[in-house]
Amino acid sequence: MNSIQKRLLNRTLRFFLTSFVGNLLMAFLVLRAVQKGQHSFSTKEINYILLFAITIFVTAIEVVVYWSNLRQSQMRQDALNEKLQEVLNGEKASQIVLPKDDPFYELTMTVNKIESHDRHQIHNLTNQGNELKAIVNNLPVGVLVINRHREVQLANPATVDLLQLQIKLDPHPYTMDIKQRELQALIERTFETKRSHHRTLHLKREPSEKVVEATVVYNKQVHHRFEVIVLLYDITEAWTVEQMQLNFVSNASHELRTPITAISGFAETLMNGAKNDPDKLDEFLSIIQKESRKLVRLADDILSISRTQSDDEQSLQISDCELAALGQEEIDLLHRGIQLHQVTVSNKIPKDVTVQTDSQQLGQIIKNLVANGIRYNHPHGQVTLSYAETNNRWQLIVEDDGIGIAADEQHKVFERFYRVSSNKSGELISGTGLGLPIVAESVKNLGGEIRLNSEVGKGSKFILTFPKTWHPNTEI
Ligand code: ADP
Repeated sequence: MNSIQKRLLNRTLRFFLTSFVGNLLMAFLVLRAVQKGQHSFSTKEINYILLFAITIFVTAIEVVVYWSNLRQSQMRQDALNEKLQEVLNGEKASQIVLPKDDPFYELTMTVNKIESHDRHQIHNLTNQGNELKAIVNNLPVGVLVINRHREVQLANPATVDLLQLQIKLDPHPYTMDIKQRELQALIERTFETKRSHHRTLHLKREPSEKVVEATVVYNKQVHHRFEVIVLLYDITEAWTVEQMQLNFVSNASHELRTPITAISGFAETLMNGAKNDPDKLDEFLSIIQKESRKLVRLADDILSISRTQSDDEQSLQISDCELAALGQEEIDLLHRGIQLHQVTVSNKIPKDVTVQTDSQQLGQIIKNLVANGIRYNHPHGQVTLSYAETNNRWQLIVEDDGIGIAADEQHKVFERFYRVSSNKSGELISGTGLGLPIVAESVKNLGGEIRLNSEVGKGSKFILTFPKTWHPNTEI
């Protein structure tokens, strides 16, 4: 029972008491008058009766007024209570409107203000929460939050993709998701040392391994409460480029050293007396010449590959180019090789075909592919240059019926310095292992794509696809 209800009860009791005492007194006076055989009351008695009747009447009115006021205030109080409950439950509370002279006016206005402030705060928080969720969901960095009970609280799509997981929504032990020992160890170290840790990890996954920079952050929120945040940054591309650069330097130095060693070795032998033997002189000089040519070709190829790599869109000279004429120019430049290998090269590109491209880069592509078709061929072999087109793309096809490339070697031939092992031993076909990487890089620069179909003993077909209309960042 609240204080208002108590006061109401007191009033009611007092009213009943007064009325009871008044009635009792009146009954007593009436009784005495009857006993005395009087039929009329004395003035004093009438005064008493009137006094009590008025008291009872006034008290009754007071109680009725008081009661109605109290009922009204009780109703206001209930409305305010209900509103506060709604605010507490986060429901949309209705506004309470009272006249200005109402005693509850100030209080109601304050509650209304608190409610609308609260609603704004909730609205802002919800917006911020949604924004944060959208950011985390679209971050290219994997974010995984683990609570102090080692349970997963949150995992964004990037984590799901990097770890190739189906992460459950309810909290569950993180070891159910993270199976990589090194990552588990990094997280456990963070739990134990209460400090953040960082490591480069190789994640085994299908179809290919990913290299990630894993940062495990120890995030202390409040006293005795903390969480561990795992951030996974995919560095596969940068790592691959770095590895390629390292391999390139070591391969290039190796490839350079071989002819240089041969040249200096044979020159020394000649100087030590072999020059006096005419047969040896001829033999050694021709070896020196062959190795020097190798060196020149290697230097040319290294220059080409670094040029194609640094060729950004600005340095491309895109213009209309007559494809058949360009192909023929490159074929003509290879006439010595064609004669040497006794191979026929046919240019089947229709004469009226004009494409938008960088003719210098496309020329180099044609030269490298046709040269390979000639070199990795049998005497009387065939190399064909042809053209095809689809809706918004055009294709250049370089096909030969030469020695072919085994299926497991086909993707490797585009790696720098890679040469198919059967050719490595044979001294007949010399090369640098940079021709196809140069082709692949140039095709990419021109917004195109290269495909290889090949079968050992039957020949190879290189299909290059380009967009008809060239513009920066064109992707096939
Ligand atoms: P290079 O010809 O200087 O060795 P490339 O990068 O042009 O270097 O080629 C890499 C390897 O791919 C070659 O060593 C060769 O074994 C193989 N190859 C390239 N083109 C052909 C082809 N048309 N037919 C058969 N093998 C080829």
